Formats: sequence, C-alpha cells, structure tokens
Amino acid sequence: MDLPFQPTEKVLLPIHGSDALFPVNQVYCVGRNYAAHAREMGVDDRKPPFFFTKPSWTITTGDVKYPPNTEDLQHEVELVLAVGEDVSIFGFAVGVDLTRRDIQGRAKENGKPWFSGKSFVGSAPISEIIPIKGSEDLSDLELTLKVNGELRQSGSCSDMIWTPPEILCEMVADIPLSQGDLIFSGTPAGVGRIQSGDMIEATIPDRAILSFSII
Ligand code: MN
Repeated sequence: MDLPFQPTEKVLLPIHGSDALFPVNQVYCVGRNYAAHAREMGVDDRKPPFFFTKPSWTITTGDVKYPPNTEDLQHEVELVLAVGEDVSIFGFAVGVDLTRRDIQGRAKENGKPWFSGKSFVGSAPISEIIPIKGSEDLSDLELTLKVNGELRQSGSCSDMIWTPPEILCEMVADIPLSQGDLIFSGTPAGVGRIQSGDMIEATIPDRAILSFSII
C-alpha cells in the first residue's frame, strides 16, 4: 500500500520482566471514580463516573516540562489499566493524570471540553507496564504520591466507584476498545498543586514506581 508519508510511530512502553514493549493505542481516562475525590472537587458523589481521552503524545516516561498557560498544575495519581487482546487486562501501571486545573475550571464554567486542561506535552507520565498473572484482583492495589518526599495522596483501588472489570464493561458497550489502549482509572482524594523543581514519586507499593521532576 502506498502512503504519502510514514505513519506516526506508536509510543512504546517497557514491560516489567520482559524485553518486549507495549505499543500504546488510545489513552482513556475515568473522571470522578472515587467518591472522596468527587467531593473535594465540589461535585455530587452520587453522580456516575465518566470518560475522557488524552492523545497518546501526552504519555511520557521522563521528566515533565512545566506546561504553558497555567498557574495551577496539579497531580492525580492513578492506576492505569493496560488492555490486551480480546478486551482482557494485559497489565497495569502507575500513572499521573497531570491537569492544568485553572484551564479545566474555566472550561467547566463555560460548558467547554476539558481538552486543554488535560492535554499538553508530558501530561500523562507512566511507569513500566506490569503484566498481570491470571485473573489478579486489582482492587487490592494501593496508590501513593509524594511531592519532594511528602505524602500527598494515599488511596486504595478498593474505593473505586467503577472497578477495573466494570470500567471495561462500560467502555466496550460504547466504543471499540482495543489492545494497546491505556485507561487511567481515576484518582483518590488529595490532588494538589505542583511547581517547577518539584520531584514527584508515584507508587503502587511493592509493584510499580514512577519518579519524575517538573523542569
Ligand atoms: Mn484523573
């Protein structure tokens, strides 16, 4: 097949314990999947979670340049589901859904999409992909995020409103979820502001770690 130019290359992520790489397809995010985070954002925690997307170019495994046009960059630590063949869960990672909260707030006020609040170069830092063994229950996983060594977020995936299997069910009923897709599954409470020079460490204790600086 003739193409007028080379297709853009896929983002590839390391897979723990393997030389293989995980080819990223689409990046989806779940909004307000923890009641305590919905409350801290001033939203009725009985409303169901929902989905939004980030372009795959937001994914990064390195340091993050402080983005333009914001004075309120915030961290959201999240369990990331890595989708395998036939809508299975291939593995998971720890990720941070970086957000320009001031831009997002103005978008909410004006009924506009969250796109520019959520999407900028480096807005989706992620660890290596940890393959799961059999039908491991991801609800047992914990999430932590430290800024300059100080604990800011600590939560349990057991507090998710939609569990990982429920997220997949909700999505496949509506869209063609594919192998390679990543799903940021929502953040527990404790989101907050970060600035240039900050060192972020996000973990799923004993399983996954992600460290990066805001430069
Ligand atoms: Mn989020």
